[in-house]
Order: sequence, then C-alpha cells, then structure tokens
Amino acid sequence: MPEIRKHYFLSEYCIIAEERAKRPSDFAGAAEDSGKSGSENCIFCGGEEEKTPLATAVYKNRKIFADTSEERIRNWDFRCFPNLYPALSSVPEHPEHPEIGLHAEPGYGFHEIIVESPLHGRKLEDFSDPELSGLMHVYRDRTCNYITREKILYVSLFKNSGKAAGASINHSHSQLVALPFCPPQVERELKVIREKERCPYCAMFDKEKTSSRLIFENSECIAFTPYSSMGPFEVWILPRKHVSFLGDCKDKTLFALGDILRDVLKSYRKVLGNLPFNHMFYQLFKTPEYHLNLRLLPRLTINAGFELNTGTYINTVSPERAASYLRGDLTPGK
Ligand SMILES: [Zn+2]
Ligand SMILES: [Zn+2]
Repeated sequence: MPEIRKHYFLSEYCIIAEERAKRPSDFAGAAEDSGKSGSENCIFCGGEEEKTPLATAVYKNRKIFADTSEERIRNWDFRCFPNLYPALSSVPEHPEHPEIGLHAEPGYGFHEIIVESPLHGRKLEDFSDPELSGLMHVYRDRTCNYITREKILYVSLFKNSGKAAGASINHSHSQLVALPFCPPQVERELKVIREKERCPYCAMFDKEKTSSRLIFENSECIAFTPYSSMGPFEVWILPRKHVSFLGDCKDKTLFALGDILRDVLKSYRKVLGNLPFNHMFYQLFKTPEYHLNLRLLPRLTINAGFELNTGTYINTVSPERAASYLRGDLTPGK
C-alpha cells in the first residue's frame, strides 16, 4: 500500500510505493527508444482490453462509456483505466509502522493511464485534427474528473515518451496522478505570483511573443524555449488567455494548445529524431491567479551530482540556438 511521507522539516513529500517495482516493461530486448518495440503482448493495444483493469472512461465517437465486469468496450478512440501499479490508491490503508516524530499518511490519490490510440505505434505528432481534438478533450475531461474530488489538491497530467523519459510501455499514452497535496515547486511559484501586480506568465507571453526564443505561434498560444531553460530544447507552451486549468479552456483554446504541441513534437522529431521526452501540464483548480502552461523536456542529459546537489541545471544548448533549430532556421551540426 502506498504511503505519503513528509520531509523531516520541510513541506516536501515523497511517495513510497513498492508495488510499482513489479510493473512490466516492453522495452526489454527492443532497441531503446527506437519506437519499434513490438506490439506483441502490448496490453494497451485495441483488442487487448481484458489485459488491463476495467476502463473508467472509454471515448468512442465523442461519447463516454465505462467498462463493466460483463462487458469491455471495443473499437474505442481513447481509453482510460486505473494504473495496475499505482503510485497512490483511492482506498489506502494507514501506514503500518508510523515513526514517532515523523509524518506519514495514507497514500491517497488516483493514478490513471490514458491510452491515446488503439493503434500501436501511432504517435501524437502524426494525429489528424479530429484525433488531436479528441485527445485534448480527454485531457480536459479527466482533469476535471479528478481535480474536483474531495481532498485532491493537484492533478499531475503528463506523458513519458521513451524509456529514458520513464515510459515502461512503448504504446503512446499519458498519465494522470491526482494528489492530496500541492507540489512544493508549484506552491513556491504561486507565492511569488501572488506578490506580483501582474501575472508573470501574462508578462512572459508578451515578452516571448517577439523574442528570438519564439518557435511557433497560433491565434491562442505561443511555444518558446524559456530564457532559463533547464535542459537542451526545453519548450514551454503558453495560452494567451489567462486560464488557470484545462477546465477553463474553451474548445478553441484547447485545440490550439494541442495544435502547437503537435507542431513542437514534429520539429523535435525533425531536429532530434525519435528522442525520449516528457510533457507536463502545470495547472491549478480554484486558483485564478495561476496561468496554465505546458512544458516539454527532451531527456538528452542525466541529472548528475551537481544538478541534484544544487537544483541548478547546466544546459549545453542555449535556448536561442535551440529555438532557431526548432523553427528550422538552423540545421544541427552547422
Ligand atoms: Zn500497443
Ligand atoms: Zn496570466
């Protein structure tokens, strides 16, 4: 049973979840991140529905269904089900051996898998407009479904793509972890945002819209390499409209976010090949000061002693240069 443990004296947490060590990987034997690991035995493929927990939300022709123990929905577009090896549990037990003077609490929360296509090997950057719009609606729906639950304070919505980015199954999927606490770095951000007269993300939008770090722009969003990027080719996506979570996004903004995400992924592939990366939504519910943003980080470097020791990252590609590669102005190696 998972357990949430607090740091000795800071409001920082870790989750102890030993069950997760048992999760299988389909990367074994396949060339790492070749994107070609076989579809044999893939439990996320269409037709293999029996191999996962019952789906809590199945999207088919824009309607939502749920599996029952009698019937599993087939021919779906997107399929969401509880992670078989969850980091948190919706019915957690109390920690078995609480230690005096240290804080531990039941590992309450939700951990869901969002399978983005029934087809093995189908990637987000190749999605058609209807597929992309469908996925963005699923992201919004699932965020709203969990962010409004009792005791849930943060919804972490993210994608690990490639083994080096933490994926254990090479079939395109995202994950959602609903937490009973707000992550300390988001708390820290929020404290500073509340001290400012104007939203720093709105100011960032105005600054980056005309900077040399701008990569793409559409009617609703910009994609840019942040001024103090923590790694090569880090990209942030910001909506022009000040919205604090996906639930506040109208359809037009939602699609524009997905569209620019697809553009960034396409240019990653063009410039960097089939690289491992994470994308992560930063969003807060009932916190109008916050400004929704989406961050992408290719996993080209390993956090080593210095980064872990100082929380400071050494980036070997300036964000200005990375942006010119991603826009297509420069070709790597030149
Ligand atoms: Zn598959
Ligand atoms: Zn803002």
